[in-house]
Amino acid sequence: MPETHALRREQLRAAVAASDVDAALITTLVNVRYLTGLASSNAALLVPADGPPVLATDFRYALAAERDCADVQLLIARPVETALTELAIGQGMSRLAFEAQEMTVERHTALAATDGLTLLVPFGRRVEELRVVKDEGELSLLGRACAITGWAFDQVVPRIRAGMTERELAVLVERAMVDGGAERPAFDTIVASGPNGAIPHHSPGDRPFEPGDMITIDCGARYGGYHADMTRTIVLGAPTAWQRDIYGLVAQAQLAGMEAATDGAEVADVDAAARDLIAAAGHGEHFRHGLGHGVGLEIHEAPMVAPARPGRLGDRVPITVEPGIYLPGQGGVRIEDTLVVRAGSPARRDLLTTTQTVTPGELLVIEP
Ligand code: ZN
Ligand code: ZN
Repeated sequence: MPETHALRREQLRAAVAASDVDAALITTLVNVRYLTGLASSNAALLVPADGPPVLATDFRYALAAERDCADVQLLIARPVETALTELAIGQGMSRLAFEAQEMTVERHTALAATDGLTLLVPFGRRVEELRVVKDEGELSLLGRACAITGWAFDQVVPRIRAGMTERELAVLVERAMVDGGAERPAFDTIVASGPNGAIPHHSPGDRPFEPGDMITIDCGARYGGYHADMTRTIVLGAPTAWQRDIYGLVAQAQLAGMEAATDGAEVADVDAAARDLIAAAGHGEHFRHGLGHGVGLEIHEAPMVAPARPGRLGDRVPITVEPGIYLPGQGGVRIEDTLVVRAGSPARRDLLTTTQTVTPGELLVIEP
């Protein structure tokens, strides 16, 4: 997609030209990838207000850069940011903007001491802002990541039994995602059983499943660099009244949150649509994380869907909707889907994560 990357670089160049600097130094690796197509562990991009951008990477990625970024001027050198800064100064650019969210104090000190540099100012999260709205190519990669996730989950559900440990199930899910075509898991799979379900980001351990456990599985595949995110909660054996109650409430809140996620909706209102239902039932204290987040080249990215957050959703913005209720000492429920907000009337959204074995509105009971 060289044209796509060139278009993104041109959008960024316009932002640089509109600010009081000669060039922007992009050092956040995922932003470099977004702007050039190069996936690496060491690269930076210089985007001048006037003139062609220059991508710097080291020998290990030289061939990949020539292959994937044929339309960008390439500089093989390290450290990449020093090389680009010296190049910029050599071409008469002395005022640089940098990505303060990524730059360490140590590297900034070294960079600021470069001879000939007259200004080094934070650029803000300009590239992250460009990344919020996806193009159809990105959405198709994300859709594939989500389809693999749902498929993998469905492969594994019939194998869940009492005695299996959290870690064993996490490994099965991750293996199934790779079998289904994932390049790797999008993040460390969460499997939280019984009382561990009260810990939203529990790290799967050696606890074997017991009859009566609710089990929360939060997983996602990565495909083409794009991250899927999905959570399902099931129960092993007949559920108790409190388990049915909180499951029903989370399912209802999740549906309300998804329905509120429309083109133009305030993110705080989307959060409230789900949160108010949970609070009204007396569980406000048991749901203390945001309702959701953007997904894309990172598993958590803008926009954050949470109370008091500014901003609105828009066309082609993918987000997760993931309310939960966590009862210390007892357990918890979270239901999460990834969807894409679409423009149009009536309000449209594409649900990307679907599972055949579990319908989120209904608590799946597995025979222990
Ligand atoms: Zn998740
Ligand atoms: Zn999530």
